[in-house]
This record gives sequence, structure tokens and C-alpha cells, in this order.
Amino acid sequence: EQKTAYGWKLESSYAELPDIFYTKLNPWPVRSPKLVIFNDGLAAELGLNSEELKTEEGTAMLAGNRVPEGAEPLAQAYAGHQFGGFTMLGDGRAVLLGEQITPGGSRLDIQLKGSGRTPYSRGGDGRAALGPMLREFIISEAMHALGIPTTRSLAVVATGEEVARETYLPGAVLTRVAASHLRFGTFQFAAYKGGTEERKALADYAIRRHYPELESVDNPYIALLEAVAQRHASLVAKWQLVGFVHGVMNTDNMTISGETIDYGPCAFIDTYDPATVFSSIDQQGRYAFGNQPQIAGWNLARFAETLLPLLADEQDKAVKIAQSVLKEYIESYYANWLAGMRSKLGLFNVEAEDESLIGGLLELMHEHGADFTNMFRALTLGRPEETALAGRKAFNEWHEKWQARLDRQEEGRDAAVELMKASNPNVIPLNHRVEEALTAAVEHNDFTVMERLLAALSAPYSYSAEQNPYTQPPADPDNPYVTFC
Ligand code: AMP
Ligand code: MG
Ligand code: MG
Repeated sequence: EQKTAYGWKLESSYAELPDIFYTKLNPWPVRSPKLVIFNDGLAAELGLNSEELKTEEGTAMLAGNRVPEGAEPLAQAYAGHQFGGFTMLGDGRAVLLGEQITPGGSRLDIQLKGSGRTPYSRGGDGRAALGPMLREFIISEAMHALGIPTTRSLAVVATGEEVARETYLPGAVLTRVAASHLRFGTFQFAAYKGGTEERKALADYAIRRHYPELESVDNPYIALLEAVAQRHASLVAKWQLVGFVHGVMNTDNMTISGETIDYGPCAFIDTYDPATVFSSIDQQGRYAFGNQPQIAGWNLARFAETLLPLLADEQDKAVKIAQSVLKEYIESYYANWLAGMRSKLGLFNVEAEDESLIGGLLELMHEHGADFTNMFRALTLGRPEETALAGRKAFNEWHEKWQARLDRQEEGRDAAVELMKASNPNVIPLNHRVEEALTAAVEHNDFTVMERLLAALSAPYSYSAEQNPYTQPPADPDNPYVTFC
């Protein structure tokens, strides 16, 4: 019998951290694993053998029924502020198989999500339902295609078991791929449970893994805080520029790497409104679309607190350093957002009036309920008459100002259109399209709708002449759209 290797090349650097940071355990087997979606492109990037992983034995690995060679499965410990309240957490329904060393030399976490109970499960069953795992697959891959740092999705395996939620739902295991699963909450755990040694060990590990260029600087911990703040200033700006609402920006759902993680109740806005909330559990609107930049800042403050003893010998000095980094975060976020908005409007250079030009458009969009993605697509295609603002005097005036602004720059109209095409997605995961794909998969065992959607989402900035069915808002919009974790 030929022994297949599947391409696994797993290491476990995380397991070299002090014991408090994890519990070693295997995933719990499931009854009858069936592979329902697999990411060939990502498998190739990881150096994994798609054909072998799609066999019964390979699928058993992606279900947690067999452990790959070289894996040292473990559940990670962490803490976090959930909707503002501090809690001890950890992987309650996931195990890290290890870190795959890719042909390109990257080290990427391979995690099974929905893999059964762990010491951190609290009351939970350790399992995941098929719908939400497919949702994470779709949205994370869409985000990646949009050029937004994110964890990725390699596969979803249906377990053949039911999970009890409000009703019984089909169960599934997702294979998640991440730069790492270090979270702000991992540092909060270290600060709460560990001493200086554990805190330092974690910070050193994070630097080595994600910011190796900082190892040799004067104070690498200040540099770590600055670097994490800069990554989030860039990340959240990208969210705001495509209308992404994360939905549950708890500190345990914020990565040290600066990748988007944990696709639960997330969704893209349709009608532009900063107050947009999709999540059924976000009653106060804490994580509303327009609050995200500020919430990331609040989360960074919680991260900074865990580093205080490493920032300076005296507390006062450490606090001042942290405060100045947090201030830089806000400024940097805004600069990134503003630069991105200029690109969305085809602007290459900077004029003092740009902020009021951008603000003026957003105000009109808010006032008249314009669709965010469609508005910028229509401007890109030179079809303002197709938007909710068409025919309005204030919009006509705005449009004239914008045209004059475009004419004042050297680059010319064609270059502006190219910049707009590269900055305004033609296709995003529209809520009704995502729901349609999930319903077909979960209720009718038909995965072709999802596959077609994934294909459309894989090239979001491609503008072709044909009518694209994935850009059309629903005839009868689900209003309000509500998501569940
Ligand atoms: P999340 O809201 O997905 O960020 O999860 C918050 C915490 O709850 C994490 O520690 C999860 O591991 C845990 N958790 C979520 N769902 C379950 C479940 N079904 N069983 C056990 N733990 C869970
Ligand atoms: Mg989470
Ligand atoms: Mg979740």
C-alpha cells in the first residue's frame, strides 16, 4: 500500500510557550465526515496535495478523525473583553493542528474549528453548524480576494452529526488557516494569569513570528505595540472602504498579525448608514459599521495595558508611551481611510477641499439611502443616473464639483477610471446571495450555488461588459437583514 503524505509539513512553535497558554488534546472524532467544499488554490499555496486530501482518509483528517503526521494538536488559552466585559476564554471548539511550513517559506496555523469540547468550552458543545462554517468560508475568501488581510478557509467537512441550537442543525468542521491565532486576548490572558516571564515570552514569540524586523530595535515591545496599531489602522480602514461590518469586535477576535478573524455575524452594508448593525446580539450597536475604527482603538488600549510593564520601567512613562501610540493609531487610521476614499473617487493628488468633497457625498448617500457598493460602482462606470441620488439638485452640484476636481489633476480621465476600478469592488458578497448559497447547501444539499458565488467573488475588481447577476440588489430587500453567531 502506498503511504500518502498529503503534503503536511507541520511544526508547533506555539507549544514552546509556557504551559499556561494551551492544553494538548486531539480533536474529537465525528460520525460520518463528508467533504463539502475544498479550496484548491489555498491548498497549493500551503504545499498540500488536494487530490489526497479529498480522499476518504484525507477527509478524515479535515474532520479531526485522524491526526496528520507531525501534528501536536492543542487548544489555545486566551481571555477577552466581550461587549466590554472581561472573561476568561480559550479555544472552546477548536484545535490547532500545528503550523504548516509552506513552499514559499511561510508559517501558517492550521486550525480545525468545530472539533469538539476542550477544557475551555465552558457550557458549549464544542461543535459548529454547517451554515456558519460555510459562511466563514465564503466571506473570508471574499475578503482575501478584495485584498484585505484575513484568515483563510481550506475546507468544510459535514460531520453527519446534528448540533443543538434553537433547532437541530447539521454539524461541520472548518479548516481555518491563519498567520497565527495570537489575539489581543492572548495577551490579556498572559497579563491576568501569568507573571512577567509569561508576558515576556508571549511578546517575544509574537515579535519573532510576525515582526522579526523588530527583534533588534531599542525597545521591541514599544515597537510591537506600534506595529500592531499600524496594522489595525490599515485593516479597519480597508473594512470601512468596502463596507464590511465585522459584528463582534471583542478583544479575543482581534489578531496580533492584523488579519481579520472570526466570521460570525459579519456582513457587508448595502444602504449606506454608519449606524448599521446586523448581529442579533448587538442590541446597543456597540459594533455598528461607523463605530469600528473607534472600537479597534479601544481594543488596542486593552492590548497596550497588557504590555505596560514591558514598555518602560516607570508606570507613568509606560502609560505616556501607550497613549501616544493610541493617538497615532487614530491619525493613521484616518489618513489610510482618506487616501482610500480619494482612490475610490479617482483622485491621485491631495487638495484641501477633498475631505469636504468626500464628506458631502457620504452625507447625501446617508440622507437618501444610497447603496454603498452600487454608488461607487456607478461613479466608476460613469453612470450616476443609475443611483439613488440621480436627479437630485444637491447631487448634481456635488457631481459637477467632482468632475471639476478630476479635471484639475494631471493624470487624465482614463487613469482616474482605472484607479476607481481598482478601488471600488464590482462584486461583494451581497447578503441575499450569501443566504441563497447557504440555503441551497444546508437545506437542499446543493453546493453548486455556493461554488458559483465563490467564483464570482474571486475577482471582485473585474469589470466586464456583461450584466453581472452578483451585483444586483434583491428585488425585495431583506430589511432589516439580521445575522446570528
Ligand atoms: P466567538 O464568539 O466565536 O468569538 O467565541 C467566543 C468564545 O466562545 C470562544 O472561546 C469560543 O471558543 C467559544 N465558543 C463558541 N461557540 C462554542 C461552542 N459551541 N462550544 C464551545 N465553545 C464555544
Ligand atoms: Mg472568537
Ligand atoms: Mg465565532
